[in-house]
Amino acid sequence: VSRAFAGRAAGFPDDVSCRPGCFGCCVGLFEITELDAALAERGMAKLSAAARRRIRARGRRIAAEISRIFPGDRKSLRLDPAREREWDLFFDRTARIACPFLVPLEGSGDAQDAADSARWPQGFVCAIYEQRPYTCRTFGLALSDGSRIVSPPCRLNFRRREGRAARVAASALPVRDEADLALAVQAERTSGLSAGSATVLPAVAAGRRIYSKRAGASR
Ligand code: SF4
Ligand code: SF4
Repeated sequence: VSRAFAGRAAGFPDDVSCRPGCFGCCVGLFEITELDAALAERGMAKLSAAARRRIRARGRRIAAEISRIFPGDRKSLRLDPAREREWDLFFDRTARIACPFLVPLEGSGDAQDAADSARWPQGFVCAIYEQRPYTCRTFGLALSDGSRIVSPPCRLNFRRREGRAARVAASALPVRDEADLALAVQAERTSGLSAGSATVLPAVAAGRRIYSKRAGASR
């Protein structure tokens, strides 16, 4: 996914403004899979103890904040597929929460304060960039199901109106294509984790036990 993103973005240098420090796409909770959670957990394990403590504290604060409205198990923060119809409302209500994995590009500061003060906030980067979830790797470009755009690009990208639709379509990433699904099936087999069941990033940051098989058990 990352290679596909880089390849497409490189073809549209005047349209794609994604850069370190820009983090509007990291504001608002979204669904991640068990595999994403295990990967993010590995990323967190690579951080310094001080960074982990700060992320853990922020994850716990968010976990407490969303507990009352969480459409799933409040302890593990695993989303309940039987309550999937409530998920959209939950994600609407958590659309202004900054990701707990954001860290300042320079100096110090709080990502939530920055997110609260600007619609397209700047100055924070992902602490687990190499281990970020699937969805994070698509931020910025449109998603296409092959025949139509099912998710638009970031509003900071493709701002020139002339020929915009064609450029957006030409740069769009596929929505979970067959190659992605084949990789997911392979990863499920080798790790014992699921690419289907869902949680949110604050669960990982807070150290909640989301899956039954730990990341360390995967090959
Ligand atoms: S994991 Fe990283 S890239 Fe994904 S939303 Fe959080 S800070 Fe952004
Ligand atoms: S997707 Fe949008 S908010 Fe995120 S880095 Fe790219 S331009 Fe910035």
